[in-house]
Amino acid sequence: MRVCRTITGIRAALEPHRAATVGLVPTMGALHEGHLSLLRAARAECATVVMSLFVNPTQFADASDLDAYPRDEERDLALAAAAGVDLVFAPSAEEMLPAGFQTWVEVEQLGAILEGEHRPGHFRGVATICLKLFTIIGPDIVYFGQKDAQQVAVLRRMIADLALELELRALPTVRDADGLALSSRNVHLSPAEREQALILPRALASGDAERARRLLDGLEIDYVEVAPFHPPVLAAAVRVGSTRLIDNVPLEGDAP
Ligand code: AMP
Repeated sequence: MRVCRTITGIRAALEPHRAATVGLVPTMGALHEGHLSLLRAARAECATVVMSLFVNPTQFADASDLDAYPRDEERDLALAAAAGVDLVFAPSAEEMLPAGFQTWVEVEQLGAILEGEHRPGHFRGVATICLKLFTIIGPDIVYFGQKDAQQVAVLRRMIADLALELELRALPTVRDADGLALSSRNVHLSPAEREQALILPRALASGDAERARRLLDGLEIDYVEVAPFHPPVLAAAVRVGSTRLIDNVPLEGDAP
């Protein structure tokens, strides 16, 4: 496995691999089984698997949230190598966002509801950096988790609107045995908070927004809503202590 830190470097490393299928799994690191499920799917389908490792500052509104984001590159690289990743693109913030950077992608409506309402600018940051990663890597297939259902909806819209020549695969949410969706942010939960957090998947499993809202009573709720994605999902965001958690369940057909 090779690790490239510059745009020029990853482009040169990919040059010999362009004739066959290139898969990209974008991540912010702090890898868990959710990420690994995406890497395995990419490994099964693509001749070359690229993982990007970039904590995207433009999708965080809050500097303290960005600073608190868990980082352990050495562990992430070992897990990526074990999952069969061929190339890791791990650029610095300056490489991705050089001085003077001022070009943004805005997926106007899908990016403004739900998460977008509570995290203004979040999807502008996500869409812009994902488009830049897609442009740099030139993947045939990109892999994302249904855990971030709105991210999938926003990126599918961007791919269609800008006629990008790539396919997006959305893979099911990976959960712990107790039902909590895996998230890099779960490390911030104390044992008592983790117990409280379990109400979130239980409430969503009801499949009904009103029932879920009642079950979540007592937690700080940002939203519990049926989101108009494909498939529609019952989505919620709650705060447990200082940790913000999101989760969703698909409402129709096989997930996702
Ligand atoms: P992140 O590193 O949080 O940006 O996530 C990178 C990718 O992993 C995104 O496509 C996420 O949707 C996906 N992901 C995160 N958590 C999970 C999970 N529990 N199950 C499946 N995919 C996930």
